[in-house]
Amino acid sequence: MSDLYLKFVNTPVGKTAAQSLGLPSPIPLKRWQRADQPFLEGDVLVGAANGGKAIAGLGAILNASPARVFHASGAERLEDSAKAGNKAKPLALDGETDTRFSALVFDASGIKDTADLRALYDFFHPSIRKLGRNGRVLIVGQDPASCRTAPYAASQRALEGFTRAIGKEIGKKGATANLLWLAPNTEQQLESSVRFFLSPRSAYVSGQVARIGKSTVTASATNPVAPLTGKVALVTGASRGIGESIADTLARDGATVIGLDIPAAQEELQKVVSRIGGKALTCDITDSQAPAMIAGFIQETFGGIDLVVHNAGITRDKTLGKMPEHFWDMAIAVNLTAEELIDEALLKQDLLRENGRIVCVSSISGIAGNFGQTNYACAKSGVIGYVEAMAKQLKKGITINAVAPGFIETQMTAAMPLTIREAGRRMNSLSQGGLPVDVAEAIAWFCNPASVGVNGNVVRVCGQSLIGR
Ligand code: NAD
Repeated sequence: MSDLYLKFVNTPVGKTAAQSLGLPSPIPLKRWQRADQPFLEGDVLVGAANGGKAIAGLGAILNASPARVFHASGAERLEDSAKAGNKAKPLALDGETDTRFSALVFDASGIKDTADLRALYDFFHPSIRKLGRNGRVLIVGQDPASCRTAPYAASQRALEGFTRAIGKEIGKKGATANLLWLAPNTEQQLESSVRFFLSPRSAYVSGQVARIGKSTVTASATNPVAPLTGKVALVTGASRGIGESIADTLARDGATVIGLDIPAAQEELQKVVSRIGGKALTCDITDSQAPAMIAGFIQETFGGIDLVVHNAGITRDKTLGKMPEHFWDMAIAVNLTAEELIDEALLKQDLLRENGRIVCVSSISGIAGNFGQTNYACAKSGVIGYVEAMAKQLKKGITINAVAPGFIETQMTAAMPLTIREAGRRMNSLSQGGLPVDVAEAIAWFCNPASVGVNGNVVRVCGQSLIGR
């Protein structure tokens, strides 16, 4: 499962060889290291178009980090929100500064027509070459669905293409670019998302658009060290791979985890839950008794649940003409039907608590389709449809979102033929596979009690894979 090429090109000999042969030179991604690590360090440059609606909120969030905050012309309002002693300083982007920025943050919510788009060029043209390794570009805009005029909607939608294109240009530095679209009056709900996208937690998330919408509940104050304290989480498929990492990450963030897996994985599952002080539950989620059994276990053990992560999944690959019917049935049952039935049982018994979270694990195969995966792609696409529909129905501040992983280094991908595995690893802006923890971090962001407005989103954790959107 180890990416030997990534290791090789980061040796002096490997670097020279890759350069002379024109091969990709991925750089190691910085990931989250320790609980008290600030979400952002170094120098940050902030810009805004037409003053920016979100600038005050952004200023307050950035000032909670030890990063030195600078603002370009147009973002002077940032100074109003700055704490004394950590005042954002103006910086002229005249090519003179030798600063290497750890992040470039741009409030584009004030862009109302195509002429205003010029502000993107004016801010990023002089600054983008000064973005450091593993740097972050974060753009905040207005959700086009809430823009009243066509030019306003068009210019906000234009941010998506801009973000994705810039992500492709900076990927070789291990840097990422993402876009947050705000519904009207949701500027106060930015914090958990800004922290996620600017931190090493989003190392393998690039070219993504996340929407922040209105919520019926107020966002909780952010607890940066243990945001999930007091929460109970169910994680399916928790004995290994991505599920194991989700269990570890949610426990790291303070949750008590019920890890679920098939009976054959009991020993491995027990090791995981013992390590994190959780509880093990074994069953096949496709068993007709499973939803009632899971609901009963939750009721008896904790009286309710806060976070449900549907991670268990299988592939049964064959081209459609050669696919046996049980391959089809199993892929649909595990990857899609079981999630619906488990949620139905939990919701019917009112076991999912206020401000609860459901997170589904889809796949880029469910977005783009994949050769030999009609069954899996069908199920994972269905997961997206399920999330989008449920997001409109859930009450009590409960949200539902999905992650769509790309190539993640697990036993599932280790079993692929070498050529397909190497293609999967390199065909993305960061030229490497992701780690299970990258998926887990995105899930932890969805689960954060402060992420109340993040609902109905599908965020790809794929290093901006060339496959799919
Ligand atoms: P994995 O095979 O390593 O782990 C899946 C886990 O789910 C296993 O522990 C397995 O025992 C469990 N499981 C399977 N069927 C079950 C059932 N019927 N009942 C209960 N548990 C069951 O896979 P992974 O790579 O860690 O993938 C985790 C999720 O991420 C899956 O939904 C997968 O489709 C998705 N995904 C993975 C990748 C990748 O690159 N690894 C990419 C896209 C999506």
